[in-house]
Amino acid sequence: MNLRKVLIVGGTHGNEPTGIYLLKKWERDPGPVTRPSFETGLFLANPKAEALGRRYVDKDLNRCFLKRDLNDSALISYEDSRAKEINYMFGPKPESAYDLIIDMHTSTADMGITLICDDNKGTLQIAAAAKAQMPQINIYCIKESERIQSCLRSIAPHGIGIEIGPVPQNLLRHDILDQMTQTVSVLLDVVHKANTSSGVFWPEEVEAFIHIGQVMYPDIEQCPSAVIHRDLEDKNFQKIEKHTPIFIGSDHSVVRYKGPSNACAAFINEAAYYEKRVAFSLARKIAIKP
Ligand SMILES: [Zn+2]
Repeated sequence: MNLRKVLIVGGTHGNEPTGIYLLKKWERDPGPVTRPSFETGLFLANPKAEALGRRYVDKDLNRCFLKRDLNDSALISYEDSRAKEINYMFGPKPESAYDLIIDMHTSTADMGITLICDDNKGTLQIAAAAKAQMPQINIYCIKESERIQSCLRSIAPHGIGIEIGPVPQNLLRHDILDQMTQTVSVLLDVVHKANTSSGVFWPEEVEAFIHIGQVMYPDIEQCPSAVIHRDLEDKNFQKIEKHTPIFIGSDHSVVRYKGPSNACAAFINEAAYYEKRVAFSLARKIAIKP
């Protein structure tokens, strides 16, 4: 592996200040994100949303990077324009000068430390090697798709999103900052080792979760007439059994799980997904051999 430029991004969502705080810290002192075998860039993705303390101004910036959208001059919202600008600065996709983009996010869901990546072999190898050093990491893999290609990190050949939670939107916490710092540091160490080691050091097999779908709130029309049931709340990455109560209505009616068997729930009660009526994601636990 030969990665010569790594871009660390924060503030893709303006109400997730953890990454923004760390970018400013590392701009003053880049020591913690500097490694001898590659160049590290730092980038605040959505400064206007940050100033407003909102996830976005007009639309989710992390859904604006499909090639057809980047090439569509009719798309002129703030985030569409910003995506084109970012693609000009760091792309153009897929011929980016950067080999890897690490995009720092936080979640209101109890996701612990989760690396989101596509199923590109090199990207999975980096994530797997990071997990070998930090076993508490969860690897959440989304197969190559429009969802992956619409993300900012898709500009580069390798992209990893870090999600750490639970933490409320617009809140800074010492422990979450420490976890983000440690996760970024381990990823950079892995890249440096991959650049400079001659031997293979990827772990033989690691546990990962592969995204299979999403479960919507039952009350599309009458928000919010149902909430996540307490039996499901915070049970991220645990197997969800048939008939587990998943929602409770304001009338005390209970909705039970009827989805695919052998699935785990993730991003349970992510506040940013309320507007899409997404209650949680479903993933299958697998062993990957990077
Ligand atoms: Zn985010």
